[in-house]
Amino acid sequence: MKNNQIKTADQVMAATYTRFPIVLTKGDGCTLWDATGREYTDFVAGIAVCNLGHAHPGIAKAIADQARRLVHVSNLYYTRPQIELAEWLVEHSFADRVFFCNSGAEANEAAIKLVRKYFRDRGVPERFRIITTEGSFHGRTMATLSATGQPKIRKGFEPMLEGFDIVAFNDLEAVREAVTEESCAVMVEPIQGEGGVRSPVPGYLEGLREICDREGLLLIFDEVQTGMGRTGKLFAYEHFAMTPDIMTLAKALANGLPMGAMLAKEKVAAAFTPGSHASTFGGTPLVAAAALVVAKALVEEGVLSNCERVGRYFKDRLLDLKSKHTFIKDVRGEGLLLGLDLAIDGVSIVKACMERGFLINCAQEHILRFIPPLIIQEEQIDSLIVCLDAVFEDLSRKSEG
Ligand SMILES: *Cc1c(COP(=O)(O)O)cnc(C)c1O
Repeated sequence: MKNNQIKTADQVMAATYTRFPIVLTKGDGCTLWDATGREYTDFVAGIAVCNLGHAHPGIAKAIADQARRLVHVSNLYYTRPQIELAEWLVEHSFADRVFFCNSGAEANEAAIKLVRKYFRDRGVPERFRIITTEGSFHGRTMATLSATGQPKIRKGFEPMLEGFDIVAFNDLEAVREAVTEESCAVMVEPIQGEGGVRSPVPGYLEGLREICDREGLLLIFDEVQTGMGRTGKLFAYEHFAMTPDIMTLAKALANGLPMGAMLAKEKVAAAFTPGSHASTFGGTPLVAAAALVVAKALVEEGVLSNCERVGRYFKDRLLDLKSKHTFIKDVRGEGLLLGLDLAIDGVSIVKACMERGFLINCAQEHILRFIPPLIIQEEQIDSLIVCLDAVFEDLSRKSEG
């Protein structure tokens, strides 16, 4: 039975989401409650957003204090939290400069605009085509949609923006073949998130770096999902012996307040000059104050090391499940971005877990994705594994009977 609020919602809101029929009202750490008082352990974290968990006291205090002081003034002026955050990002990454915006799509738009401007400034405007990969997800605006290698997401919005060449993921030869004198950049997620937690094969990202260097292309890493500690390092590129030229961030940057960032090396960033690009809300003191709490917690309060340790524990438990249940084809991912590739439908499993008090996510219909807050503990993982085991047992029994 649907409650009245859900009925109203289905009448007045754009029908862009398939929502689960619960109204969430409260959270604390890795726990959420719905309007009927039911409790859930959260392995979704707002889709890899709430890395410090829900109702984090430090975040709540930073937002409240900053709201009393200054929420917004426009980027016509300097504000302290934004400066401090940019400084932190530059100190902790390969990048020299940061542009702030409000979402992952906007961060990627900024990256796409930056590479176009970079080559135009160098007198080669014909170099504007960006190579991206199948199964990728870069956002829902027209440019980022055009960059996204998933037909189901592009469908209905054609024609796509010109200038994107989509090649198979994990295939260096395909990239080499796609490079023309019009190419300007390669854009990839170091681990594909929405595409189903697809990891790069050994040498793939390093190989992309080599191709880019040889052909004079820029390398863009979309770390909107993998960045800010999700994979057990601050940024996923740190797992590999290379750095990109540009990196985009969003999701976890401000633990749930809307914030995105595009980071670049000086040589490339220099193509953005006053008036080139802008965002009214980008990097307001309010969201930047929250992001500073996230940054501090990751490095100084052990959240990053918890992610690394618990992530390894979680992956081992998923491997235990795989050795028990034959319809688990693959366990993959890094840190607390983990996936179970199933030979069966995943959506029904998500629903069964929800009934047992666990929120998990399913990508591409058959890949269970686990992206909990990075503060999650072993006991909570053990409980989820017991739940999954029971749900899988039920399924096996049903398919036999
Ligand atoms: C979520 C996501 C985006 C889009 O972010 P929005 O904030 O929804 O615009 C882009 N790239 C990746 C890798 C993502 O996971």
